[in-house]
Amino acid sequence: MNIHEYQAKALLRDYGAPVSDGRVVMRAEEAKTAAGELEGPLWVVKAQIHAGGRGKGHFKEAGAGEKGGVRLAKSVEEADEEARRMLGRTLVTHQTGPDGKEVGRIYIEEGSGIARELYLALLVDRQTSRVSFVCSTEGGMDIEEVAAETPEKILSFSVDPVTGYQPFHGRRIAFMLGLEGKQVKQCVALMGTLYRLFVEKDVEMLEINPLIVTDAGELKCLDAKMGFDSNALYRHGDIAALRDESEEDPKELAASKYDLNYIALDGEIGCMVNGAGLAMATMDIIKLHGAEPANFLDVGGGATKEKVTEAFKIITSDANVKGILVNIFGGIMRCDIIAEGVIAAVKEVGLEVPLVVRLEGTNVEQGKAIIDQSGLNVIAADDLSDAAAKIVKAVKG
Ligand code: ADP
Ligand code: MG
Repeated sequence: MNIHEYQAKALLRDYGAPVSDGRVVMRAEEAKTAAGELEGPLWVVKAQIHAGGRGKGHFKEAGAGEKGGVRLAKSVEEADEEARRMLGRTLVTHQTGPDGKEVGRIYIEEGSGIARELYLALLVDRQTSRVSFVCSTEGGMDIEEVAAETPEKILSFSVDPVTGYQPFHGRRIAFMLGLEGKQVKQCVALMGTLYRLFVEKDVEMLEINPLIVTDAGELKCLDAKMGFDSNALYRHGDIAALRDESEEDPKELAASKYDLNYIALDGEIGCMVNGAGLAMATMDIIKLHGAEPANFLDVGGGATKEKVTEAFKIITSDANVKGILVNIFGGIMRCDIIAEGVIAAVKEVGLEVPLVVRLEGTNVEQGKAIIDQSGLNVIAADDLSDAAAKIVKAVKG
């Protein structure tokens, strides 16, 4: 689960990391008061969306010369104006995709004088199963670009969980970043703070880009992107409360309410599968036959008829879906439950695209009988390859 910059900065502030003072604004009327509570002479007005690249992004229907989602203002009035101009509009960045994201919240913060922009991230390195630091002197840039073009400008190392964070880790970062004097000490303390926050709150990714050296020579977190391990949210009520559902794909949100493992994709074949491994194999074999999956969906082992019905509804609500492939290997999951769910869903939402069903395993005969007797226009398939070939043929002709 991701959170907004202003929420991440509130957490950083709680832990004692240096951030600017700021106010979040949800409605245009609040902007002026919010800006007035901050000290000038510079204000920064920042669109809050769960995507980076806001500064270089653009609004849909933007006027000529109108800049992105991070703007400087020289007075309370100007900050108010900028906030009003951004609220409710759609911001497109290289991370949002062409559809962009609607801006429902604005963060107004005190402007900083910037001497240097640096890059810092903490993440879970799945290869070493440890928390890793990544830092670079090339702040404000896309780290992917730096990694591709000048990898020598990136330092990355992991922390042994037995010792945890140690001051030498912080010094290593400080020297890589070319920090001097008291900044080294600040860096050692800040990295320790970030590591503690990361571990205590089950953070999955924490990116400070840029981490700056102010013109007064102090370190400060100027941007903050934070994502949490969803499987650990149950033990962090304070973090779970930060969830902004309007930032999530509506289909993925509906799926999460029914505990379905669903990821929306760009293709045309909707997939309903049980088991993550079979779901992956199904996506692969659809590609092998020349089409693209519209989603990844694992209905899980203990799915009920209601859960299957909901899964089917989510798939059919996707306008890109031109055909559906149900591929079930009944182990713990029973084929008759799947069949009942599919029939119930079709009764409710109708079926306007071809449907191929491949059932195998527990209660397969009952499952097939339920579908046969339903009078539905279902194309039956015998194995995985046959199923994929049939649905691709039905969709592409
Ligand atoms: P994004 O990464 O989404 O573009 P950032 O928060 O990194 O958004 O802001 C983009 C740039 O705007 C920063 O690299 C920095 O140069 C400038 N900026 C952001 N916040 C401030 C601030 N409080 N004071 C001065 N400049 C800022
Ligand atoms: Mg940034």
